[in-house]
Amino acid sequence: MSDNSLLLNSDTLIEVLNLTKTAAAVHIGETAVIQYANDEMLKIWGKGKEVVGKSLADALPELEGQPFIEMFARVWREGLTLNGTDTPADLIIDGVLKTFYFDFEYRAVKDSNGKVIATLHSAVDVTDRFLKKEAIERAQEKEEALIREQLLNEELAATNEELNATNEELHTNREELKNLNVELEERVKSRVKDLMETEERFKTMAEGTDIFIAVGDETSNAIFFNKAWTNLTGRSMKDLLSFGWVDLVHQEDRERYVNIYLTAFEKREPFAGEFRILNKEGEYRWLYAQGPPRFKPDGSFAGYISSAIDITDRKQEEIERQELAEALATTNEELAASNEELMVTNEELVSAQNLLGDALQSLSQNETKLRHLILDAPIAIALLTGRGMIVETANTKILEIWGKEISVIGKPIIEAIPELIGQPFLQLLDDVFTTGVPYFGNEAKALLLNRDVYVNFSYQPLKDKDGVTNNILVTAVDVTEQVVARKKVEEAETAMRLAINAANFGTWYIHTVSREFVTSDRLKELFGYYPHEELSVEGALAQITDEHRAFVARKFELALAGNGDYDVTYPVIGLHNQRLRWLRAIGNLKADDSGEFSTFTGVVMDITDQVLANKKIQQAEENMQMAINAADMGTYSINSKTLEFIISPRFKEIIGFYANEQPTLQDCFNIIREDYRNLAMELVDSSLKTGAKFELEYPLIGVHDGKERWVRGLGELIYDSTNTQGFFTGVIIDVTEKVKDEQRKNDFIGMVSHELKTPITSLSAYLQLLQKRAQKAEDEFTVNALDKSVKQVKRMTTMINDFLNISRLESGKINIDKQIFDLADLMLDTKDEALTLFSSHELEFYPIENALVFADIDKIGQVINNIIGNAAKYSTQGSKIIISCLHKGDVVEVAVKDEGIGIQDKDLELMFERYHRVDNNDNISGFGIGLYLSLEILNLHGGKIWAESEVGVGSTFYFTLPIATT
Ligand code: ADP
Repeated sequence: MSDNSLLLNSDTLIEVLNLTKTAAAVHIGETAVIQYANDEMLKIWGKGKEVVGKSLADALPELEGQPFIEMFARVWREGLTLNGTDTPADLIIDGVLKTFYFDFEYRAVKDSNGKVIATLHSAVDVTDRFLKKEAIERAQEKEEALIREQLLNEELAATNEELNATNEELHTNREELKNLNVELEERVKSRVKDLMETEERFKTMAEGTDIFIAVGDETSNAIFFNKAWTNLTGRSMKDLLSFGWVDLVHQEDRERYVNIYLTAFEKREPFAGEFRILNKEGEYRWLYAQGPPRFKPDGSFAGYISSAIDITDRKQEEIERQELAEALATTNEELAASNEELMVTNEELVSAQNLLGDALQSLSQNETKLRHLILDAPIAIALLTGRGMIVETANTKILEIWGKEISVIGKPIIEAIPELIGQPFLQLLDDVFTTGVPYFGNEAKALLLNRDVYVNFSYQPLKDKDGVTNNILVTAVDVTEQVVARKKVEEAETAMRLAINAANFGTWYIHTVSREFVTSDRLKELFGYYPHEELSVEGALAQITDEHRAFVARKFELALAGNGDYDVTYPVIGLHNQRLRWLRAIGNLKADDSGEFSTFTGVVMDITDQVLANKKIQQAEENMQMAINAADMGTYSINSKTLEFIISPRFKEIIGFYANEQPTLQDCFNIIREDYRNLAMELVDSSLKTGAKFELEYPLIGVHDGKERWVRGLGELIYDSTNTQGFFTGVIIDVTEKVKDEQRKNDFIGMVSHELKTPITSLSAYLQLLQKRAQKAEDEFTVNALDKSVKQVKRMTTMINDFLNISRLESGKINIDKQIFDLADLMLDTKDEALTLFSSHELEFYPIENALVFADIDKIGQVINNIIGNAAKYSTQGSKIIISCLHKGDVVEVAVKDEGIGIQDKDLELMFERYHRVDNNDNISGFGIGLYLSLEILNLHGGKIWAESEVGVGSTFYFTLPIATT
């Protein structure tokens, strides 16, 4: 049982808690809503009880930007405890923002299910503690800095002292040096004095000794010989001074000794030597002389003082010793012999040693050489080591092939040449490594970074003493050029073979010496042989026709004998099929490797078609020539580019030149009658430019006889096979007679027509008279008969008028009488007449527009009548004919449309020619002059005439006239 009186209620409990010195608060939720805060906490915040119920952010807005609010949220969310020591927080206390330091804890309080129900917030303000600690730290740092400075100062003071001491020493040294100097000067002075005394002493000494003393100067002249010398030689000092001692020296010693002396003199070195000299008793004495060089106080060379002693006795002993030595020598020799044997053995040993040394040296040289060899080798070499195939060595050549820099050395091959991935090489290397079997590649294609390379290569496994592969030696030769060149040759050969096949050539070759003859199947076929049969040179020649054989055989033998190329054309009769073919054989000599001509190769082509075509052309040309001759034509040709003008003799004759004359193109134009000249020139010019056919009948006046003659000229522009230049060629025919005939015929027609006109006019008048009478007498039959007669007479009149007009036109005598009139009026006049004349048809004149023209009213009326007449004539009775007259820009256009038989396209232009009748009108009478006259009349008016038509549907004829400008 619990004693409730011992438990405080929660309010009291809170009041008690309020008294704790630790600041405490309870928050709820992510925003840390203040549930409870004890007085200590409120003091820290600088707030009163009013903050209870507010979120921390609302209660303490200055916390924004500081980490605490987010820390509360985390504690709530994640159920954590967060704490910190000496953590700075900026808070507003009494309206001032200040930094305080806290030890704090935010603890998540959980219920029995582990759910966070509150955040317990406890804090202790440690600002004082913190600031004090900081102050102490800073004071410590300062003190340490001071100590360091002190130490430095002390060190400086010590260095200073040392410097002072050195300075003092230097000072003392200087003093000492000064004293030394004074002492030295003193010493020099006393030395000079000593020297002078020494010279005197020397002379006394030299004269008082039995040593031979002599003095020489710096020029090697003797300047002093002592008494010992004069005593020995018996010569005076003066004699001796001028080289009087040299001749006394024994001949055998003279040169040697003088040399010793002179050599030493050159070098200013001491000398010493032995020599024999003749004394005054006539005996040779041995002297041993030596001399140190002398130097002046300034160090320069002063000559020699030589001193010599008599060594004759010693020399004597030497000779005796030598004799003894000779006896010893014999013994020695024997020893030497055995020695020599030893020496030989020794030498052998030495040479063996030398050989070993050489071998060693050459070994190391070889290794260096090998390295250089590999580096500079003309074939590409690389050494790959280990399973990873590291490029250990790669010479210049292989780097060139790889297209890499020296920097690839040391890298695994796969990194050195990554582009090899996907190509067979890496796998091959790996296989060589595994199997230890070398691999050889031939003309392998490698795709390297910038290019394709063909290489012959080998992968050689290098094995250790246990036979395990540890390296691979790669060697390669770049054969790209050869392969590419060979491929090109192969391509060229293929192309050539294709060409030969395409052209269906037969091919052959023959050895110039052995005369072995090799032929293709096609060649056999050309000579009428079967493919399995042998074809010999003789066999081939036998198939050539008799008249060509000898010629071909000769040409062939000449070519074979080295006489250049061979190109012959000949006919053959096939062996089995008896077929005639024309063949062209081309060949040439071919040099073998030695440069000598050894084979003769060639092709044979079937040119039968060509030859036959040529023959046809030739035939055609001959035929044409015959035709030209038969028709008595002259021919000409003009080069369209150069205007070169070539004419046949008959041409000259026709135009009236003598055979030996050479008329130019201009000469030919000049003789054309003036009224035709420009027309002819324009037509020729336009033919040259446009290629249009030229055709003209024109008169010309003979240069020599002045006679007029008529010619018909025809010409056409023809291009050569290359299409680069054209030739305007053609013929001319003398048509003078024909023109004259026509003239006569025209004159005759004109005359007859004229003669017919008078009786027909009176016939017409009489008929009209009779008609009036019959009408009066109301004799219907006669009226009708006369009506028809009048119509026929009218037709006859029209016809006669046409013939008259034609003859006038041809002779240039047609008379055009122009006046201004309205074409519509003429149309209406025509209408009245046509309605009676062509009552058989349904005529419609619509639309008719007014149009003033300047023309011959009768002739234009004649044109309209002719066209309407034709429309009626060439269409069935009762069909419609529509006539219109309309403005078309600056012309007036008359159209006559019928529903008649129609005209074929090819005749649409021809029907306007004189006497031309289209073959659509077998049963309809006419002369074919109506349209010709109409065309000529309109030409004389600057008008045009044409027709459009569809066979079986109908035709429309149009003509135009310029509208008169008033
Ligand atoms: P003709 O009528 O006297 O034969 P033309 O010179 O008037 O002579 O006519 C020439 C030829 O044109 C005629 O023979 C005829 O074949 C053809 N022709 C002319 N007009 C027409 C037409 N409207 N319909 C069909 N053919 C026609």
